[in-house]
Amino acid sequence: MDFFNKFSETITNKSKDVANKAKEIAEVTSLTGKIATQENLIEKYYKEIGRFVYEHREEACDNGLEERFKLVDAAYEEIERLKSEIRKIKGVKLCESCKAEVPAEAAFCHKCGTAVPEEVPAEVEAEAVRDVTEAETVDEEAVEQVVEEAVEETVS
Ligand SMILES: [Zn+2]
Repeated sequence: MDFFNKFSETITNKSKDVANKAKEIAEVTSLTGKIATQENLIEKYYKEIGRFVYEHREEACDNGLEERFKLVDAAYEEIERLKSEIRKIKGVKLCESCKAEVPAEAAFCHKCGTAVPEEVPAEVEAEAVRDVTEAETVDEEAVEQVVEEAVEETVS
């Protein structure tokens, strides 16, 4: 009887493990998709920066570029935040020295021996990034308008 109880307990734990693993995979897949979105945005901003520099090559003006630089910075920060979320799900942290993934409970990196502190939860920073991203979205339209006006001026 005891054996069967233990047996069914093991089965229950196993299926719980499987369910957790599936949830983990789904979360990591979703975060990986968000990272790809940020990387696509960065490519878009790079293109816009390139076009802006080209179209304003006669002037020594860099206003409008600053906005794009900030958007790229925010996208890179968001990618770092998403990566840290993935690490949290996987139960690992990053060695600052060699960028190896180290088990979350480890005090030292198994690869290079550097002391690895607890990873700072990215929640507070994330809020700031999201604020910046939202604020920049408005500016983005303003920048596009400036660019359009500049183009129109060039044409006429
Ligand atoms: Zn290391």
